[in-house]
Order: sequence, then structure tokens, then C-alpha cells
Amino acid sequence: MYLKASQQIVTIDGPSGVGKSTISRKVASALSFIYLDTGAMYRAVGLKLKQAGIDLQDDTAVRNCLASMSLELIPATDESEDVGVVLDGRDVSLEIRSPEMAMVASAASALPVVREKLTQMQQEIGSKGRIVAEGRDTGTIVFPQAAWKFYLDAAPEVRMQRRAEQLRGQGKQVNEKELLDMIIKRDYDDQTRSIAPLCKAEDARVIDTGALSIEEVAETMLKAIELVK
Ligand code: C5P
Repeated sequence: MYLKASQQIVTIDGPSGVGKSTISRKVASALSFIYLDTGAMYRAVGLKLKQAGIDLQDDTAVRNCLASMSLELIPATDESEDVGVVLDGRDVSLEIRSPEMAMVASAASALPVVREKLTQMQQEIGSKGRIVAEGRDTGTIVFPQAAWKFYLDAAPEVRMQRRAEQLRGQGKQVNEKELLDMIIKRDYDDQTRSIAPLCKAEDARVIDTGALSIEEVAETMLKAIELVK
């Protein structure tokens, strides 16, 4: 099957803690595609707006703040590592990964000016194809032309346990109830915002990651990609 460069894109969307990052990195590595972590970009913008003390209701202030922003993604050197982010010349890779920053990112991501700016940046990054884009709207809004679309899902409790393990692995204390509440709130906010809400693209293949291992999910996806290639 002939695919234009701009169609040679894998999109992986779904709620938080569903295993998207780990699976995206595996799939990108297996295909030798670039991995685009769009969540990292929303987290960095959230951090920028928070540190600048910008009122999120003030559209002009948000727009001006973003106009002066420099945002650079640093590819992970290892499959188990997160993508790094340099914001205005400062490495904020660790800072953006806390559960609190996820909530800040979620609030910033509901703003049309933020989505407009980041969507444009993401489309530029993907213009030559051969990328695995991970996020909430990569199959619906950012790359609707992508040849391979997936939507990963799992019960909130399963996702909470996975995130708790990950945080504990980083030596952090975990309050499971609080973590579950945050996941449920973030799902709700991401699914109900008026612009680019989290939802499955019509032509996306749904995979429940609750019942499968990371390897099994990645394998299922790679098989599906091979069939269309
Ligand atoms: O994927 P991650 O948890 O890093 O994303 C952080 C937040 O950024 C999400 O909860 C969501 O609100 C926002 N986001 C988004 N659209 C994307 C990726 C992330 O709105 N494509």
C-alpha cells in the first residue's frame, strides 16, 4: 500500500496512566520512527504559565507569554526514559513529571491559544512523517491523516496502580486515594473540555491495556501496522 510521507504516522491516544509512553517508545524504537510526546509539551507550557504567574483567563497575557517561549524536546536515550524538555534554555525534564504538573498541564491544555500553538508545532515536527505521536488528540486533530491510529484504554484503578508503582520506583511517597482522584478528575477534564477533547478517532483501533502486558500491546500494534504497510 502506498503511503505519503505525511501519512507515515502512528498516533497513540488515551487517558493518563494507560501505558501510552512506554508503549509509544517501544513502537517507535521497533519502527525506527521518532517518538513525539505531546503531553511533555503541554506540561512545559503549564510550567511556563505557572512560573510567570499568568492568569489563565487572560487570553492576551497567555498569548504574549507563549510568544516568547522557546521549547525544545530532547529524545530519550533509552527506551525506559522520558523525553526531556528544555524550556527557555532551562532543563525542566524532571520538574514537569510530577502529578501536580499534570494537573497544571491539563488546565493549560484547555485553552484554545495553547492548543493552537502546540498543534502547529506538532504538525511541523510530523510533516516529514515517520513519527509515533502520543497524546489525547493526535489521531483526531493533530494528524487526522495518520495511517495507523490507536486508542489505549484501561480502568482508572489499573492506571492508578501502574502510576503508583512508577512513582514508588522513583522513590516517591504515594497516596493511592489521592492519585486515583487526580486520574479521575484529569480524565473528566480532558474528556469534557470544549476544544480537542480526549476521544477516540473514528478510525482508531481500541486496545484495552488492562488485560495485556506492555509487550503484548506493542506487539498487537506492530502487527496491525505491518498489515497496512
Ligand atoms: O500525557 P500527559 O499525562 O503527559 O499529559 C499531560 C496533560 O496534557 C493531559 O492530562 C492533557 O490535559 C494534556 N494533553 C492534551 N493533549 C495532548 C497531550 C496532553 O491536552 N495531545
